[in-house]
Amino acid sequence: MKESDGRMFPQSNTSQSIIDCLMEPVNTGKIDLRLSTTVKHFKFENKHWTIEIDKQENLVCKNLLIATGSDKHIWTSLAEMGFKIIPAAPSLFTFHINDKELHSLSGTSFTNIQVKFENTSIKAPALITHWGASGPAILKLSAFEALRLNELNYQFKFEIDWLPEYMENELIDFFKKQMLENPKKKLSSIAPFDLTQRFWKFILDKAGIKEFQNWSETGKKQQTEILKNLKKAKWDVSGKSTFKDEFVTAGGVELNEINAETYASNRFPNLYFAGEILNIDAITGGFNFQAAWTAGWHVAQNL
Ligand SMILES: Cc1cc2nc3c(=O)[nH]c(=O)nc-3n(C[C@H](O)[C@H](O)[C@H](O)COP(=O)(O)OP(=O)(O)OC[C@H]3O[C@@H](n4cnc5c(N)ncnc54)[C@H](O)[C@@H]3O)c2cc1C
Repeated sequence: MKESDGRMFPQSNTSQSIIDCLMEPVNTGKIDLRLSTTVKHFKFENKHWTIEIDKQENLVCKNLLIATGSDKHIWTSLAEMGFKIIPAAPSLFTFHINDKELHSLSGTSFTNIQVKFENTSIKAPALITHWGASGPAILKLSAFEALRLNELNYQFKFEIDWLPEYMENELIDFFKKQMLENPKKKLSSIAPFDLTQRFWKFILDKAGIKEFQNWSETGKKQQTEILKNLKKAKWDVSGKSTFKDEFVTAGGVELNEINAETYASNRFPNLYFAGEILNIDAITGGFNFQAAWTAGWHVAQNL
């Protein structure tokens, strides 16, 4: 099932469908699945891979596919084997914004906003939370700028256009119309542009509009403030959702270490990689799963 912004979900809307899909070949095929078993070491000797696991047992195989995600122990082992590893940085996280008024709007959702940070600009749905901002627009921005935001220690400013479907001129025309046709009407009485009443009130507060102020009392300066708060609001971010709450990790085995078609290592024979262990991270909507499964499929074809 494809959402309007391109995100993909199982038709059943439950992750159990994905688990079932992946477990079916395990249950019906001859796949030896070992749970609660940690790989401690692996090395290539006598044309085979030897894998040391928890219970002092060694597994020996000809081909080895490593799909251990962002497990640091395996990253370190690979670095010791000479693999170039891009340091980990969280991706797909939400933003902390210290603004009590914003928090009070927690649960307010938007079908489309535009967020901008440096040269990245994204239009997507968004959600106000009790700690700041979340939803696809924020998650996508966190993914595209994962390394830069990590560098800034998650202290940065970004811009929100709450009404990207409207040009500034359309808003100015709306203000003019209100001044002419409804000069004695309170600004707060009706929320325009499909905004919720609470959110419109929040914007008016930010723009310094008083509770009972009417349109005839609202000069150009204050109209510009409303416009700025709706279309070019600058927000200070003071952190991200806590470590391990993020959905994916940027970084991992550098892509020039592998053959792009087979996912085989260029450095060692019969060694393959798939999934998050590779320096691939995608936006939200199933694309990280897709990257992992696509690599797994290619490796299986190659074997
Ligand atoms: C909360 C959350 C929500 C997410 N939502 C989405 C989403 O909606 N869409 C999307 O595309 N992606 C999503 N992701 C990202 C997605 O889950 C990962 O990109 C994907 O699971 C990566 O698959 P993988 O097989 O490479 O790694 P993983 O799923 O991390 O699997 C690695 C496995 O290896 C095991 N392992 C690690 N080290 C060892 C070892 N030494 N010995 C033995 N076993 C080991 C681990 O226990 C784990 O089972 C989400 C992630 C999180 C955390």
